[in-house]
Amino acid sequence: MDATSQREEMVRVQLAARGIRDARVLEAMRRVPRHEFVLEAYRDEAYEDHPLPIGVDQTISQPYIVAAMLEQLALRAGDRILEIGTGSGYVTALLSVLCAEVYSVERHAALASEAEATLRRLGYLNVGIRTGDGRLGWVEYAPFDAILVSAATAEMPPALFAQLTEGGRMILPVGPSSSQELQLITKSGGEAEVKILEGCRFVPLV
Ligand code: SAH
Repeated sequence: MDATSQREEMVRVQLAARGIRDARVLEAMRRVPRHEFVLEAYRDEAYEDHPLPIGVDQTISQPYIVAAMLEQLALRAGDRILEIGTGSGYVTALLSVLCAEVYSVERHAALASEAEATLRRLGYLNVGIRTGDGRLGWVEYAPFDAILVSAATAEMPPALFAQLTEGGRMILPVGPSSSQELQLITKSGGEAEVKILEGCRFVPLV
């Protein structure tokens, strides 16, 4: 099966059948070539229903959890987004398709530069990447309409909440390394409204 057909099947079987409805998210996941973001040795498994290693002990998330996070953020084409944990750059590419501007912070310099090269090569140009501690956000480009955190934390980093617009949304896995829950935070009247979503398992935010 070619990559386009594999993505069609991924969207149908892993996403639509499990309740992902946002048409823009489904279309973005049909378009972005996930196999370009995984290590050569795992290319054959790029569209399978599980996370994969991307080096330095990190992983590219399972397609379903990525789609669920994107859907919950209710992204609009004009949004400016902050992503914490660039990793392979796969989620960054999806955000690039769904939104106007994407800023992404990655702790590992090697992952950040590899992701940046992949994104440039594939033509995802509305993206800025920086190596650093994502818990501090990216204050120069704040405020953000939405923030997506791809690594687990014991509690929501306050600097990230401060960098949300009023009405802005943040999604993040909260809990110990063994298992976490996804939380959707909405900034409303300057306060955090917290919605608890499904269970998940991410590498830790360090
Ligand atoms: N969305 C990524 C998933 C990467 S896994 C993808 O699609 O590939 C989580 C990433 O968060 C890892 O690359 C890890 O290095 C990074 N990370 C962990 N703690 C961090 C921190 N404090 N600041 C920035 N990135 C961090």
